[in-house]
Amino acid sequence: MDTLSALIDALASGAVEVVDLSQPLSEATPVLRLPPPFANTPGWKMHLISRYDEGGPAWYWNWFEGGEHVGTHFDAPIHWITGRDGDDVSQVPASRLIGPAVVIDKSAEAAENPDYLLTIDDIRAFEAAHGPLPAGGWLLYRTGWDARAHDERLFLNTDERGPHTPGIAVEAARWLAEESPIIGVGVETVGTDAGAAHSFTPPFPCHAFLLGAGKYGLTQLTNLARLPATGSVLIAAPLKIVRGSGSPARVLALGPRR
Ligand code: MN
Repeated sequence: MDTLSALIDALASGAVEVVDLSQPLSEATPVLRLPPPFANTPGWKMHLISRYDEGGPAWYWNWFEGGEHVGTHFDAPIHWITGRDGDDVSQVPASRLIGPAVVIDKSAEAAENPDYLLTIDDIRAFEAAHGPLPAGGWLLYRTGWDARAHDERLFLNTDERGPHTPGIAVEAARWLAEESPIIGVGVETVGTDAGAAHSFTPPFPCHAFLLGAGKYGLTQLTNLARLPATGSVLIAAPLKIVRGSGSPARVLALGPRR
């Protein structure tokens, strides 16, 4: 039996499950809030065209507005100044939108410390237990933050000193960008960087290093707890927006029945 036939059979039998890693996209979807003097993104907004009425007696449709970086979304290299000569979201090769994924679970640590930062030692410990990070694949970073995504206040977790959400330490971000074989990092939080990353050196190291290396980010994922540590396949489907710096995305994974 060829590989695709085997996959079709596995999908039909449920031996391989499709896991939806995307958050619902609505006007309630939390969005990043930057402090002054920076410009902010609008959230998601739907506008009715017609709904089985005089404007369209047999059809329902809407138009929408919203930022590229709203909800579950894809960061393309040109999103960051370090990647300004890289691909926009329409130029990302389709072959790089499907690849192997591993899940590093630091949800216990993030529950104790909302500013938890994934370290190179954490990644080394994961590799010692599960093997090397996958070439051409994705590191999915589970923190439990998806449980907060229904409520912007809980999700952004901001106090007078700024947002407190888990992320990746500077040296780990540099290593993932420059030395590891992965092509992207996926997180459950509003961005790939920690809430406190505005004060890191460099600021926003995941963005600076990964996008500068021609790699990608995925944010506001959910259901990572349904994936095994290794052996799933991630499918990221951002809109093919010409000159887009990113796009809301449907993100799916193929994983074994659990
Ligand atoms: Mn983004």
